[in-house]
Order: sequence, then structure tokens, then C-alpha cells
Amino acid sequence: MTAVLVVNSGSSSFKYQLIEMDSETTLASGLVERIGELMGQASHTVMAGVSRTGVTETVDVSAADAAASVSLHTSVSLVTETPYPESSTERELPIPDHTAGFAVMLEAFREHGPSLVEHVPVAVGHRVVHGGARFHEPTVITESVERDIDELSGLAPLHNPGALQGITAAIEAFPAVPHVAIFDTAFHQTLPPEAFTYAINADLAERFRIRRYGFHGTSHGFVARAAAEYLERPVEDVNQIVLHLGNGGSVCAVRAGRSVETSMGMTPLEGLVMGTRSGDIDPGVLFHLHRRAGLDVDELDVLLNRGSGLLGLTGRGDLRDVIVAADSGDGPSQLAIDVYVHRLKGYVGSYYAQLGRVDVISFTAGVGENSALVRARALEGLEALGIRIDPERNASRVRGPRRISADDSAVTVLVIPTNEELEIARQTLSKVG
Ligand code: ADP
Repeated sequence: MTAVLVVNSGSSSFKYQLIEMDSETTLASGLVERIGELMGQASHTVMAGVSRTGVTETVDVSAADAAASVSLHTSVSLVTETPYPESSTERELPIPDHTAGFAVMLEAFREHGPSLVEHVPVAVGHRVVHGGARFHEPTVITESVERDIDELSGLAPLHNPGALQGITAAIEAFPAVPHVAIFDTAFHQTLPPEAFTYAINADLAERFRIRRYGFHGTSHGFVARAAAEYLERPVEDVNQIVLHLGNGGSVCAVRAGRSVETSMGMTPLEGLVMGTRSGDIDPGVLFHLHRRAGLDVDELDVLLNRGSGLLGLTGRGDLRDVIVAADSGDGPSQLAIDVYVHRLKGYVGSYYAQLGRVDVISFTAGVGENSALVRARALEGLEALGIRIDPERNASRVRGPRRISADDSAVTVLVIPTNEELEIARQTLSKVG
């Protein structure tokens, strides 16, 4: 069995997943958070079917049983799907730094399984948000790569330093296996210059590496490939628009499997209306707020990144809460949803024009996978572009990739659950062979 450990580190937390790569199943996952605070928290979940020692229970289902009655079927599927229930543990303890966090994680594996002796990870894959223009593929982490990631912190001060702390601590915890960095920006390194260039002073742009990089690339790439697979067409033949709508959100135009346009820019602030981020805004607003309201640059940064978007418009950053409030007649919440879907529809139209022909539009991430309302409203009235959603299919809560467009829709519209951890694990494994 081949396992890969996937680590996604922030400045005060990290998430991890141990993935068994032959069957691509998650064996365990966890979250270590509040690192550096008085009290830290660690949770560890062992997936159903994974025993304490890490041996997956197999249940013998004979052909005769499998072909038997409905009631037998029910009991068979119960047995095969949940030989053990999923088990979670939580701890509260001081976790002064990431190194201590990895010690807590290793202890959780020892105590609750699966055994890392039986499932030795062949590699550790690290999510790194910003790879600048330097990194365009999975990269084995060396000291010089660590220096480059550190140096790119200037472009991603909120993200890269945390990733680096996680990398350093993970290398201490797993010194004998390769560590691979997977960059959110890498998938967008195929953007053409006309898409990544801002129309500002060219010398300044070059000196300060000001250009559009794009983010959520791991998800956009995963979904684009999954959509082509769903259509049973080679990814090279398909023009796609991928809508990744989570707390953060971005749109990507994909031609022949390559990103050719995306809505996030030099930082993950540009583009769509998000949970707490404004997305596109006239930069003149910032000058105005500075001159008239006296906000300094750090206050403006906080305002746009953490106090805007749905939160700024309604006081609620979670779209579910905004929808509930809108349904009960709250005016600002209704307006916020209007602004959210108006922006989204604008991007769909823009990327349709950039691609010239669109075969498939895919919704993914928390909002994209769960909100029938957003999906319907973002694409309503686009029948003339060959986009027609089937309301019943859209309302279905079936899990997994599914079609929500009508049979007579020229453009196929899909919901594709994203799985960034699996994609990181796949890319990590492909890098280390
Ligand atoms: P992240 O960007 O943090 O990875 P996710 O992709 O998990 O986020 O998406 C989380 C967001 O998805 C939540 O903030 C919530 O607003 C939204 N969401 C989840 N389910 C629904 C739903 N049924 N309707 C609307 N929004 C939803």
C-alpha cells in the first residue's frame, strides 16, 4: 500500500490527510489549530473502515448474496460501507509552534491509528499558496526551494509564511521522505501575457513582480480533468469554465486542459464577491477612503480582505446565513445575493467570450456544490448562449459529479465536488514516482 500525507498549513493551524493511493481513499484526517495561543486544539478523525492498526477490513460478499433480495442488499451495503464507524478525537493543550503541532499529530496516529508504521507515507505533499512566476509544477522541497517560498512571502504575506513553518516542522517529523510543494498558482502559469498583465507602468510592474497569478489552481485543474472524464472526452478537446465558489471564490477559463484566464490576480483579493473579500473594486475607492476617511494602508487591507464581501454587505460572512436572512425578508441580504450572482454571471459571460465556445461549466466547492439557488441564478437567462439548467437536476442533493443542465442545453453544466487534498497527493506521488 502506498500512502501520501497531505499538509495544508496556515500561520496558526494546519490540516492533514493520510491518503492511501492505490484506492485513493483517505485513511485519516485532522486539524491542529490555535498554534501559539494559550490553548491549542487538535482533532483527529480515522475514517470508517480503517482499523486502529490501519488494516482495512474486507467483507466477503458472495455473488449469490450480492444478487439476492432487497433486504439482503441493504444489510450487505451496511456491512461493506461501515465495518467501523468513523471515529474522531479532540484534544485541548498548549501547542506553542508547528513543530509541537506535528508531535501532537504523530501522537494521534499512534494512539488512534492508522499505524504510520504500516502506512508509512512515501512522501509529504504541501499546499503552498503562492509560487509566483517561479514555480509551475510540483517541486521537491530543498533548502533553496524553501528560500524561494520565503522570498515569495512578499507577494502572499498572509499565506506563504505559514506554509513554510509547516514545511519546516513536517521535515523534522518526517526527515526520511521527500516533501513536495504543490502551488495554488501553478495551474495558471499557462495564462497568456494579455491575461496576466495589468495595464500599469511596465517598469514598476517588472520590479515588483506585479501581474496576475491566479489561485485555487489545484482545484480548477482537478475539476477540469474530472469534468472531461465525466463527459468521456479528452480534456484537450474541451473548453470549460470552472466556478470554484467557497469562502474564497474564483472562476477559471480552461482551454484544452490549460488555464487561459482566471478571476483572482496578484493576490486572492481580485474577482468574485467572497465571504469577507470585496473582489473587484475601483482602486479609486481606496484613494478616496484614505483621503476622506483617513484609513491607512493596513486598515484598507483588513477592510478589503476581511471586512468586505458578504460580511461587509450584511454582517454575515457565510452565504447560508445570508440566504436564510434574505428569505426572511432582510433587504441587505437580498441585495448581497444579487451582487454576488451579478458578478458571477458577468464572469461567465466574459469567459464565454474569451473562449469563443464553451462545452462545459462546472460548479465546485462549498457554495458551488451545495447552493442550487446560486447555481440557478448565476446561469438564468443565458438560454441564448446555449445554457439551460434543469431545475429538478439542480435541486437534487445526490453526491458526486452530476449533470444539472437540461438535455437540450448545448453547454453541459455539472456539479463536481472538488478534492484538493487528493489532487495534491496525486501530484506529489507523480513527482516522486
Ligand atoms: P473554503 O474556501 O474555506 O475551502 P468551502 O469550499 O468549504 O470553503 O466553502 C465554505 C462555504 O460554503 C461556507 O462559508 C458557506 O458559505 C458555503 N456553503 C456551504 N453549503 C452551502 C449551502 N447549502 N448554501 C449556500 N452556501 C453554502
